[in-house]
Amino acid sequence: MNLHEYQGKELLQSFGVRIQRGIVADTPEKAVEAAKKLTDETGTEWWVVKAQIHAGGRGKGGGVKLAKSLDEVKVHASNIIGMMLKTPQTPAEGKRVNQVLIAEDVYYPGENEPDEYYMSVLLNRGTGKNMIMYSTEGGMDIEAVAEKTPYLIFTEEIDPALGILPFQARKVAFNLGLSGTAFKEMVKFVTALYTAYVKSDASLFEINPVLKTSDDKILAVDSKVVLDNNALFRHKDLAELRDIREENPIEVEAKAAGLSYVDLDGNVGCMVNGAGLAMSTMDLIKQAGGEPANFLDVGGTADAERVETGFRIILKDPKVEAILVNIFGGIVRCDRVAQGVIDAYNNMGDEIKVPIILRLEGTNSKEAKELIEATEGLNVIPATEFKEAADKVQEVLS
Ligand code: GDP
Ligand code: MN
Repeated sequence: MNLHEYQGKELLQSFGVRIQRGIVADTPEKAVEAAKKLTDETGTEWWVVKAQIHAGGRGKGGGVKLAKSLDEVKVHASNIIGMMLKTPQTPAEGKRVNQVLIAEDVYYPGENEPDEYYMSVLLNRGTGKNMIMYSTEGGMDIEAVAEKTPYLIFTEEIDPALGILPFQARKVAFNLGLSGTAFKEMVKFVTALYTAYVKSDASLFEINPVLKTSDDKILAVDSKVVLDNNALFRHKDLAELRDIREENPIEVEAKAAGLSYVDLDGNVGCMVNGAGLAMSTMDLIKQAGGEPANFLDVGGTADAERVETGFRIILKDPKVEAILVNIFGGIVRCDRVAQGVIDAYNNMGDEIKVPIILRLEGTNSKEAKELIEATEGLNVIPATEFKEAADKVQEVLS
């Protein structure tokens, strides 16, 4: 599960990480109120208006604007709230912005120049350790830094059993070229950041940029936080931060129905029982020259109702030109699945405009076949062999 920038920053702050402070708003009027309040609290004279969507690169897409007056706060907030923001990380049509973060300006002039760094904490699956990745090259696309100047990216592996050791935090500050106050601030920052990552069961905390202000404070200007869904049950407060407006609506519906569905770009809808069979079905579709439109595991209890729900969900995707149903009847009875296909036809009628290639093998497959054959008006093409099913998909598409 992803968090918004403002949610990630609040989480960081609760673990003692210094952040660029801000208040979230969903109308231009509230944005102005937020700016005033922020000035009362922090003394800031300028503000940054930042689009809150689950995607990075907002600055370049016009989703982050500096405001030097309350009028400018209002103008930027009006422009940004409701816009379809396009960044390299959004779908082509962009993502709708529902709210903005009004943040204090932390790039104020002073004794030293502000400086931007990159820092993230994530799991290194290769070594089974957590890893702090950091770089002097902050504020820009870290993928580009990795490609052009990989020697400017440092990593520090943390043994999860030991946690971050003081010398490791000092090494990070040293490699970033810091000294004096900024060095001490960075040691605190990286230690608190690591603690936040561990304690919230996150799979990623990415702060880009980490800022050294002109008066040597170290703070998080941005945050990207990904939480481990499998650990959310022990973080009820964090689970509540979910913003389903940011998620694929078909996936949200499937999840509510207890189906595991992932939207993909192709034109062949798949309905399969079991994740392993679903994966190999997708491979087979590709080998036959098609492209899967989705991953859908209807699970081990596929009955008529679940099958019908599966059809409804697959057909919400307008790209679907054919559906391949590939069910292996172990505990699942094939005749129940066949009944689900028939029910779906009866209940959805005209909505099913695409051919269905149906492979039902295993328990009660014979009864399933008889049921299908005895029903009129089905646009169903039966298949017995796995490969045959994929070839039939290709036939109906060409
Ligand atoms: P992203 O583009 O989605 O990664 O959003 P960020 O939160 O990283 O903001 C983008 C850029 O806005 C930063 O790299 C900064 O250059 C700029 N920015 C953010 N906060 C401030 C601020 O307080 N003052 C000024 N002048 N610029 C800021
Ligand atoms: Mn950023």
